[in-house]
Amino acid sequence: MSDNRVAWDVINEEITGHRSVDDEIADHREKEWVDHPGELTVFCSNCDEPLVVILITRPDAPVHNELVATCGLCDDKSFVKKFDGLFAIRASDKVSMQDMKIVKLEETDNIITQTVLIPTKAR
Ligand SMILES: [Zn+2]
Repeated sequence: MSDNRVAWDVINEEITGHRSVDDEIADHREKEWVDHPGELTVFCSNCDEPLVVILITRPDAPVHNELVATCGLCDDKSFVKKFDGLFAIRASDKVSMQDMKIVKLEETDNIITQTVLIPTKAR
């Protein structure tokens, strides 16, 4: 009896302690969000309108980014935005985003430096 009981407790602990992959992913996302709530908004250097919003999802990733967004409203572009890590990006309310282009990519000592161009178009 005691042998069965022990076996059951072990199994039960395994079952209740089990976490699905979805749970792990959800926690990871939440943690990233809580630890790094900041978003960077990239504005046009000429007309000052917000173009794209960057959310840095993994600030510790060995990636240096230099990002420029073109302005679909006045055909100028943003200043160069420099930040580190992996990121997600979305368009502002003013423009839609075209395909992101990596215009330059270098790797030195396992650190990637990339120049990213984001063309935008007036909505
Ligand atoms: Zn502009």
